[in-house]
Amino acid sequence: VSARDLLDDVLAKLLLRELKISSVRDVSPGFRLLELHGPTLVGAKWSPGDKLQILLSTGSRTYTPFAFDRKTGTLSLLVFVHGDTPGASWGRNARFGDKVRVFGPRGSINLQELASPVTLFGDETSFAVAKALRDSRQSGCAFVFEVGEPAIATEVLTALGIEGAHLVVRRDQDAHLVEVEERLAREAARASASLVLTGRAPAIQKLRGGLKTRRLTVQESKAYWAPGKRGLD
Ligand SMILES: Cc1cc2nc3c(=O)[nH]c(=O)nc-3n(C[C@H](O)[C@H](O)[C@H](O)COP(=O)(O)OP(=O)(O)OC[C@H]3O[C@@H](n4cnc5c(N)ncnc54)[C@H](O)[C@@H]3O)c2cc1C
Repeated sequence: VSARDLLDDVLAKLLLRELKISSVRDVSPGFRLLELHGPTLVGAKWSPGDKLQILLSTGSRTYTPFAFDRKTGTLSLLVFVHGDTPGASWGRNARFGDKVRVFGPRGSINLQELASPVTLFGDETSFAVAKALRDSRQSGCAFVFEVGEPAIATEVLTALGIEGAHLVVRRDQDAHLVEVEERLAREAARASASLVLTGRAPAIQKLRGGLKTRRLTVQESKAYWAPGKRGLD
């Protein structure tokens, strides 16, 4: 065994956690709520906006933990099953008792530090971070999501206890982003909201440009996926 192999082994043991799926719930078509549990999570650190990387045979895929309970070592994930890709297939096939190897929770977006109120933009992959944000503040958050199916999105958001989100249906050539930008600008002007952009990379890029032209600052942004890219992080 080489020193390198030994080091990799030690690092993996230090950083990797082995968890088990302790509950699976189909919230709505295309959305699965998974609860992961393991003694190695007891006492672990977590902040709202952190990420969790799931180790799959083909690489890792990233999700957003919420409802983290450091006493019992439990957290929840909401997986958007968008296709037949490794992450989505893992979510689709997840069963009670399955073993899961993960890195994290680790820092991604620092929601804790943001001045209230916070307005979060995202898509179906951002409902979990929205839940983490909502749970961390009594009030003072607003949500704007671009979605494919508003009825399904509403069902999922309601199940998560997120009321009053503004949903904008995705349109060809991103025509809907005009409405999204307008809405974000209004929130920023009305309530001096901290703006956080998450989700689809091209949407974030266009909105950043538009908001900059309006001299509005985006406090945090994090692309969760991009068309044609795999396992973006
Ligand atoms: C910090 C962070 C937090 C995240 N949190 C969550 C979360 O809580 N829940 C969640 O569901 N996702 C979350 N994501 C997004 C998720 O990691 C990506 O969607 C990832 O690509 C899924 O892996 P995959 O194997 O299904 O697809 P990949 O193999 O990575 O991608 C293959 C192709 O699928 C397409 N694709 C990827 N994602 C989507 C999508 N959402 N809609 C349509 N097409 C897509 C793209 O064209 C891509 O090229 C997060 C990502 C990051 C970086």
